[in-house]
Amino acid sequence: MVLRLSTLFVRTLREDPADAEIASHRLLIRAGYIRRAAPGIYTWLPLGLKVLGKVEAIVREEMASIGAQEVHFPALLPREPYEATNRWTEYGDGIFRLKDRKDNDYLLAPTHEEMFTLLVKDLYSSYKDLPVSLYQIQTKYRDEARPRAGLMRGREFIMKDSYSFDIDDAGLDASYAAHRAAYFRIFARLGLEVVAVKATSGAMGGSKSEEFLHPTPVGEDTFVRSAGGYAANVEAVSTVVPEAIDFTDFAAAEVRDTPDTPTIDTLVSAANELAPRADGTAWTAADTLKNVVLAISLPTGERQIVVIGVPGDRGVDLKRIEANIGSHLGVGGEVGVEAANEEDLKKHPLLVKGYIGPGLTLDAAVLGAEASTGLVYLVDPRVVAGTRWITGANLPGKHVFGLVAGRDFGWDGVIEAVEVRDGDEAPDGSGALEIARGIEMGHVFQLGRKFAEALDLKVLDQNGKQVVVTMGSYGIGVTRSVAAIAEGNNDEKGLIWPLAVAPAHVHLVAVGRDDAVFAAAEQIAVDLESAGVEVLFDDRPKVSPGVKFGDAELIGVPIVLAVGRGLADGVIELKDRRSGEASNVPVADVVERVLALRATLV
Ligand code: ATP
Ligand code: MG
Repeated sequence: MVLRLSTLFVRTLREDPADAEIASHRLLIRAGYIRRAAPGIYTWLPLGLKVLGKVEAIVREEMASIGAQEVHFPALLPREPYEATNRWTEYGDGIFRLKDRKDNDYLLAPTHEEMFTLLVKDLYSSYKDLPVSLYQIQTKYRDEARPRAGLMRGREFIMKDSYSFDIDDAGLDASYAAHRAAYFRIFARLGLEVVAVKATSGAMGGSKSEEFLHPTPVGEDTFVRSAGGYAANVEAVSTVVPEAIDFTDFAAAEVRDTPDTPTIDTLVSAANELAPRADGTAWTAADTLKNVVLAISLPTGERQIVVIGVPGDRGVDLKRIEANIGSHLGVGGEVGVEAANEEDLKKHPLLVKGYIGPGLTLDAAVLGAEASTGLVYLVDPRVVAGTRWITGANLPGKHVFGLVAGRDFGWDGVIEAVEVRDGDEAPDGSGALEIARGIEMGHVFQLGRKFAEALDLKVLDQNGKQVVVTMGSYGIGVTRSVAAIAEGNNDEKGLIWPLAVAPAHVHLVAVGRDDAVFAAAEQIAVDLESAGVEVLFDDRPKVSPGVKFGDAELIGVPIVLAVGRGLADGVIELKDRRSGEASNVPVADVVERVLALRATLV
């Protein structure tokens, strides 16, 4: 069916929407693909649905190719299954909860692990039923703290989520590998470059996990890669740990007066003045141990204060801490991390702002054994036994010099807490790391048995024994893909869709008022359609050529055909939207020439 602009439900806009910061958001609205309904919540217009449908079709084909079967769950779900896995609580403010008229609790699903697990439990009972992979393309709801950039980060969005069920680890490995390969094919077909990076599993638990990041300057994720092929999410990079140093002969630590040195900079200058290093080299920020006080919001709503010791030349990275701190505090689920405020500090008078020390052995000596802060104390992996530091003495205006890790102070755990920098070493020895930005397009997880255990999904094995099923979970952001494709394919005039997801193959413009032009264009539309070419036909009778061409550029169909004045000479104009290259084509050759051009497009 030819799509006709005279009747199509669309209005293009001249003005950029006020809230749009990035090109895809701006253009999808201006070109009439989506409309904003509420913050992070969008309505799909006919053109938008065309693109969305094509993205979904590609996803479906590749899911089918690995034998995954499509199902469809409700978005409105009861509380109980999420209670069984503790995610009702762990999601904190991240989900939409609601009640029915009888006061029962429901939620709008942020993801569906629980329901898939229960569905398989409901119907399957034997190892003979496995493996099975199921998926859906479904609307998800998350009360994102910062919905942004249109479809990129919505509060309602569409995800393809699949789940694999296997009897053993080898089966899970195979299902994971199949999904991973399908993901590379999907993103290749969508024209989205992706890098699979090692990721932390976060709230999901489980063992192995990779994110598919699309490198783009508008991405919110930072990842690193090395020339030797290492790639990881910044949260998941592990620091190359230095060797421990033998401290048998090290001198005792000394507490010194360092008035007015509450910052690393002032401390470093004071150190160079008051206690120059014996070998004549200057002290730098890297010689200081900075003790950062953080407030962690636990999923239970409690606020816990922890102190983390890091080399003074590195800033802390709250996202890395957020991803890694749960296990140190014995909590699952998402935690929030922020700098402790004045009020937090007041509750712990032993923390002297600007002069905070590691606070274990030394504290006891300086402050008396009763005076421990009792707070969890973690350190960066660079703080290994035998490293020597200048750090706070837990007394106003005093620092301690030559404090030896593992001799003068200990710690409750080691955490990846500081920023990763360009030039840091890759953990696998594959060279220096380079920092890049990206957006997460997909995520594959080996969940293992966590959900199956929580929801008691077991099957009988070959020996008639009940065994817990092992699972994988695999997501793709479908609506986010539409935004990412739009973001990577546009110019100052508008969108330029890759053929595979374009709302049509050809944008056919009838220029002017001449009936003969409209009749010829009509015929071309029909001929193209019967040759299997999808046509968007601008058949609006009283719209100026300027407006029509402007709309064609904005809407971004990859091939533009203009029937106008040239018709008198038997030619029409054929244009490649991306390159801008145009040529006059004899009317009789139009279909053939369009097919030829289309074959060259991706
Ligand atoms: P992000 O780190 O971007 O918040 P996530 O880790 O929460 O993503 P998953 O829970 O793994 O993502 O969801 C699977 C996929 O769903 C993601 O890879 C992403 O493509 C998409 N997605 C997640 N959150 C959103 C959102 N708010 N809006 C649009 N797409 C999203
Ligand atoms: Mg998220």
